[in-house]
Amino acid sequence: MKAVTAVPGVPESLRLREVPKPVPKAGEALLRPLAVGVCGTDKEIIEGRYGKAPEGSDFLILGHEALAEVADVGAGVDNVSPGDVVVPTVRRPLNCDLPVDYCPFGKYLEHGIWGLHGHAAEYSISDARYLVKVPPEVVDVAVLTEPLSVVEKGVELGLNLYQARLSRLPQRALVLGAGPIGLLAAMLLRLRGLAVTVTATRPPDSLKAKLAQQIGAVYVDAAHDEISGKFDLVIEATGSPQVALEGLERLESGGVEVLLGVYPRGGTLNDVGALLTDAVLNNKLVVGSVNAGIRHFQMALQHLKEAKERYGDWPRRLITKEATLENYAEAYHWTHDDIKTVLVMTPK
Ligand SMILES: [Zn+2]
Repeated sequence: MKAVTAVPGVPESLRLREVPKPVPKAGEALLRPLAVGVCGTDKEIIEGRYGKAPEGSDFLILGHEALAEVADVGAGVDNVSPGDVVVPTVRRPLNCDLPVDYCPFGKYLEHGIWGLHGHAAEYSISDARYLVKVPPEVVDVAVLTEPLSVVEKGVELGLNLYQARLSRLPQRALVLGAGPIGLLAAMLLRLRGLAVTVTATRPPDSLKAKLAQQIGAVYVDAAHDEISGKFDLVIEATGSPQVALEGLERLESGGVEVLLGVYPRGGTLNDVGALLTDAVLNNKLVVGSVNAGIRHFQMALQHLKEAKERYGDWPRRLITKEATLENYAEAYHWTHDDIKTVLVMTPK
């Protein structure tokens, strides 16, 4: 079968390979991926900056944001059957008894990223316990479930931490960044009724700006305009350390900032002392969040359904580019105006 692969640690190693079709062992499901989303993590792997091949393999099959159909199941699997459409979660624990999304580095494997093959292939394998069934009405957008699950966890943390400290719900939220994570965060916050401002460096007539406005968020072009006021909740989704610190400054007293980016090392930060003192004097809280549990995948599917009811094909419009196995490399190249690129493996 064909698989999209990379060699972790080796730049420009993205290629299509012919590999043996996997066979499910007891407790596993054989999946026929329908679509696989691509994100910055894939880019880091194909640039040789991240990722780990499975033990005994010198390459890694990519693909952690998958939508798939169950093709076959190994012995003892009773939660899914062939024909079910599912989303597999990404992370598997390794001698770790914490919730899997809280396992520290070194105590987990991740499909398509760290030590386990992913789903950018004609067939793939998952432990059946980590498959979440997809309701038929959201199959067309369920490739967004994995990135949305990460946002679900971050937004839930932000809301819960805010409420635990101030005994009320946050009213105003600022989302930094209008990529898939930023726009999905804006969607969740709008579904929960918050007033949302989204800011990014794209112009006001860009698709990103329009998508933010279509769900009732205010869009601010960070290159030319000032954000006004302060916010109870800030969701950081740019991956810029400078922007993340500015987010702290934008918090209302008692506010919470959730960091969802991966931040490059280095950089020069001005006046960190003033920012930190302000954080102390105003009880500000910054929390990092990564990965997500099965519960967040289920919440993501429920919210995709609500978003379709409320905003029509809005979730679908986040997918700005689709490629197939024939032109797979296209899915790994995107511009600032792309939002989510997707490899369509088998049209459903
Ligand atoms: Zn991803």
